[in-house]
Amino acid sequence: MTNSPLHGIIKKKRKGNRTMSKAIYFDMDGTIANLYGVDGWLDMLIAKDETPYAIAKPMVRLSSLARILNRLQKKGFTIGIVSWLAKNSTNEYDERVANAKREWLAKHLKSVQFDEIHIVPYGTPKETIVNIPNGILFDDEKRNRDNWVGTAYDETNIIETLKTVA
Ligand SMILES: [Mg+2]
Repeated sequence: MTNSPLHGIIKKKRKGNRTMSKAIYFDMDGTIANLYGVDGWLDMLIAKDETPYAIAKPMVRLSSLARILNRLQKKGFTIGIVSWLAKNSTNEYDERVANAKREWLAKHLKSVQFDEIHIVPYGTPKETIVNIPNGILFDDEKRNRDNWVGTAYDETNIIETLKTVA
């Protein structure tokens, strides 16, 4: 990986951020779960149907992701999820969506024992929710990456980026 462009970027960021903590957080929708690829997802969410969260296809090779996360966790990294609920919601719908998200993780990444799972109201600043905000975040939404305290990456090249972390 020494010759990959990602390697250089991470090295540079680390140099300038010596206080970076060993934590890696993932958004779900549009980052590891292809919610927006589900036919009719928006209409279903408006109709308070949690099905799209349950049937969203993975966006990364899960076997590779699980293997890397377990290795990083053994090296002392905290592994977490920080994901928003639906935009327009009720307490009852929030509960069904949160359950669907937890079940998605249990089904697709069952070998990963997440240290933190935060499923929070839409729009909640993610850096205020996690235990270690100066860690790494993978998130498809630019404003979440911009507001993040540590180093943030989009949904592309998750596996390749993680391979350069430790
Ligand atoms: Mg997202």
